[in-house]
Amino acid sequence: MGRLGGDEFAIVLPGKGQSSRDMEIAEAVLERLRDPVEIEGSPIQLTASIGLAAIVGAESATDEVLRNADLAMYAAKSAGGDRIRRFSADLADRAVVASRLRNELAAAIRGGGFDLDYQSIVDLHNNSVVGAEALVRLRRGTVRVPAGAFVTLAEQTGQIVGIGRIVLDTLAVDIARLRPVMPPGWFVTVNVSAKELADPDIITRLVDGPLAACAQSIHLEVTEGLELASQDDTMSTLRALRDGGYRIAIDDFGTGYSNFERLGELRPDLFKIDRSLVVGARTMTGSGNALLAAAVGVARTLRCRVLAEGVETFADHRVVTDLPIDFGQGFHYSRPAPLSSLLAGPGAGDPTTAT
Ligand code: C2E
Ligand code: MG
Ligand code: MG
Repeated sequence: MGRLGGDEFAIVLPGKGQSSRDMEIAEAVLERLRDPVEIEGSPIQLTASIGLAAIVGAESATDEVLRNADLAMYAAKSAGGDRIRRFSADLADRAVVASRLRNELAAAIRGGGFDLDYQSIVDLHNNSVVGAEALVRLRRGTVRVPAGAFVTLAEQTGQIVGIGRIVLDTLAVDIARLRPVMPPGWFVTVNVSAKELADPDIITRLVDGPLAACAQSIHLEVTEGLELASQDDTMSTLRALRDGGYRIAIDDFGTGYSNFERLGELRPDLFKIDRSLVVGARTMTGSGNALLAAAVGVARTLRCRVLAEGVETFADHRVVTDLPIDFGQGFHYSRPAPLSSLLAGPGAGDPTTAT
């Protein structure tokens, strides 16, 4: 057994290839580590993430086996830690894909290789377009890769901070072109992740930067996540941004673990109810409807406006118009589209099929 560095240790077990014995030993190690350690009179609970990899073939494979064990260990960590994962070829494939994407993102951050698409937000009372959400796209040749394909990785690697800067700079340019052609009161929402909010630059950039002039028309979307509930710094940054005129929207509401006290303190303007609750209300029986209604109720109690996300079909639209929900967003109204299609006028290319 040896220490590789930092908080990483390696244990070499004799034996041939994969056996259930290595799993038993790893479980015993985890079990022992869970015993509380006393430090200055307080019990400290430790957990570990363990990756298992077998040495196959020649001695030159040492580097490879350590790399494989490392990949398995990271898989155990990202599954929540305090567990064991065995290396598999699939893990290696995913690591290669992730590392390629990471390099592609790094190049795109250096070269400004991102664009914004906009997805219309519709007022459910009269089906008019009242705003849009800005969604980042990675330019890959002629393809615009949607955010869902790279944002999670960018959050893990910290690259989201660089991407976020490009997003805000692009938004400043776009919004200057959009405002003159949009109806009064038109607003745009933009996603900011916890890592971006932790960037010490963000307040200066938003409060003193080019977007400040239209702060009133911008909602900053933050996810209803644990970070929001537990980090005082994030709360004070959001407060400063709100004082700078920006509005706050809670994104994906219904998927996190709400800290109602914090939500109230944040004074959001808008709750965006996650698509999963909309789908649940359509597909489940009474309980799905009750959950969606409860989420709307929380927003209403805090005197916030409510938006239903991911309204994909007419059936979804019917579900959300049965409740006191102000806005809808989703494929049923319009797909995310480049700036040019918005500049063609509100609702352009955007048949609001709702009746
Ligand atoms: P989100 O903020 O909840 O955005 C909605 C996502 O759902 C978008 O995916 C959108 O294209 C998709 N969507 C819209 N309508 C429908 C529908 O009717 N059905 C279904 N199934 N999906 C629909 P996208 O653009 O891939 O973005 C994924 C996530 O990435 C976003 O979820 C947001 O969390 C994040 N993201 C997007 N742009 C940015 C950004 O500029 N900065 C940061 N930090 N995160 C971003
Ligand atoms: Mg969003
Ligand atoms: Mg969302």
